[in-house]
Amino acid sequence: MTPEEFRAAGHQIVDWIADYRTTVASRPVMARTEPGDVKAQLPAQPPDAAESFAAIMRDLDAIIVPGLSHWQHPEFFGYFPCNGTLASVLGDYVSTGLGVLGLAWQSSPALTELEEVVTGWMRGMLGLSDAWSGVIQDTASTSTLIALICARERTTGYGASRGGLQSEAQPLIVYTSAHSHSSVDKAALLAGFGRANVRIVAHDEQFAMRPDALAEAIAADLRAGASPCAIVATSGSTASTALDPIDAIATLAMQHGLWLHVDAAMAGSAMVLPECRWMWSGIEGADSLVVNPHKWLGAAFDCTLYYVRDPEHLVRVMSTNPSFLQTAADGHVKNLRDWGIPLGRRFRALKLWFLIREQGVSGLQARLRRDLENARWLADAVGAAPGWRVLAPVPLQTVCVRHDPGGLDGDALDRHTQAWCDRVNRSGAAYLTPAVLAGRWMVRVSIGAEQTERRHVERLWKTMRVEAEG
Ligand SMILES: *Cc1c(COP(=O)(O)O)cnc(C)c1O
Repeated sequence: MTPEEFRAAGHQIVDWIADYRTTVASRPVMARTEPGDVKAQLPAQPPDAAESFAAIMRDLDAIIVPGLSHWQHPEFFGYFPCNGTLASVLGDYVSTGLGVLGLAWQSSPALTELEEVVTGWMRGMLGLSDAWSGVIQDTASTSTLIALICARERTTGYGASRGGLQSEAQPLIVYTSAHSHSSVDKAALLAGFGRANVRIVAHDEQFAMRPDALAEAIAADLRAGASPCAIVATSGSTASTALDPIDAIATLAMQHGLWLHVDAAMAGSAMVLPECRWMWSGIEGADSLVVNPHKWLGAAFDCTLYYVRDPEHLVRVMSTNPSFLQTAADGHVKNLRDWGIPLGRRFRALKLWFLIREQGVSGLQARLRRDLENARWLADAVGAAPGWRVLAPVPLQTVCVRHDPGGLDGDALDRHTQAWCDRVNRSGAAYLTPAVLAGRWMVRVSIGAEQTERRHVERLWKTMRVEAEG
C-alpha cells in the first residue's frame, strides 16, 4: 500500500467508523453468534495472491461486525464502560501511523516527554499530590503485577530478585478482599507469592474490606512467623463498586511497613470529580495505584495509568541496561522501559492527550456527572418498584439489582435472575452482565457508555420489567 493508496483507503475507513458509531444503536447489543460461527466463514489458509481492499471491507461488514457485541452501543450496560471516544481513537491512529517505539528516551523523545506531561495532567485531574509519578501501562492487570513485584522486593531488601523463589525463609503474605478483581489473585500467583499466601480479609455488609479483620490477619501471620508484605485494596470493586476504606488500611500498612496498592481501575475516572474524592480518602498513604482511563474516562483501549510514590524503587526493580539501549542522554532523562515489563512502548500518551484536549476537563466531568445521575435515577426507580431490590450502595455508575417476586427459594431465584437477564440480552435491546453477590446471582447495570442518555436508561428499565415480570 503506497501512501496515496493509504489516503484513499484511510478516508474510507474513517467514514466507515463514523457510520458505525452513528448507526450502532440500531444493532442488537449482544452478538447473536454461536461459537465457531465466525471462524466457519473465514478461510483456514491465508491468501497467496494479494486481495483488493474492497474485498477486505466486504468481509469486515459481512463477517466481523455481525460477530461483535457492541460496547459503544447506547444500551450497552454490561461489564464496564469502555469508551473509545472518537478524539482518542484519532490519537491512537496517529500513534499507529507514526509507527515509533519508545525503547529509550532517545528512540522517540516526544513519546516519553508527552507521557510525562499527560500523566502529570492526569495526576492533577485526579486530585493527587505531586508526590506521585505516573507511567502508562497496557492494563490494570499488568500494573498490579508490577506493584506486587515491587512490594516483594521492598520487603525482602531486593532478596527475591537475587535469590528468586528460594531466597526467603518465611512466606511473604498478600492481603486483599473477596471483592478484589481476579487480576489480584493472578498477580500474586505470577509474582511468586503463591495462592496459599493470599489472605482473603473479611468484608462488611457493603462489601468493603474490614480494617479490624485486616489488623487481625496481619497479627495472626506475625504470630505464625510469616512475613506480611502487601495489601491490595480496591476503590470501586468489579461486582458492586464497593469502596475499601483506604484511610484505615493505609494506617495499618504504614504501621507494619506493608506495601499498599490501590486498584481504582474502574472508579479512578470518577476522581476527576472533586465531589467523588472522598471515595479514596487516604490515597496519599498508598505506595502505588492504578486507574484505567480506557474505561469510563474514554481513552481508547488500552491505556492504564500506574502511579507510584517511589519511582527509584520501581526503576531499580524493573531496569535492565543492555549496551544497545545505552545512550548519552540516559543520566538526565526517563527511560520508561524501566517503569514496567515490556521493552517496546506504544505512543499511548497521544490518545489520552487528544481526549483531554478535545473534551476539556470540564467536558469529561460533565459526562461523568451525567452518568452518576442516571445511575441514581435507576437505583431510585428500582428501589421504589415492588418485587425489586437494589443490593449494594450506588456510589458510582453501577446498580446491582435483583427481581424477587416472592415464593422462590435461593436456587429458584438464581434461575429466575439468570433467565430474565438472558432474555434481555437475547432481545438485542440491551446488554447486562449477571454476577454473584453474597452467594446469589444478581444483575449488574453498568451505566456510562458515551452515547447513553437518560432515555436509554428509562428504556432499559422498561425492558427489565417486561422480561422479569413477564
Ligand atoms: C477492569 C478492572 C481490572 C482489570 O483491568 P484490565 O486493565 O483489563 O487488566 C482490575 N481491577 C478492577 C477494579 C477493574 O475494574
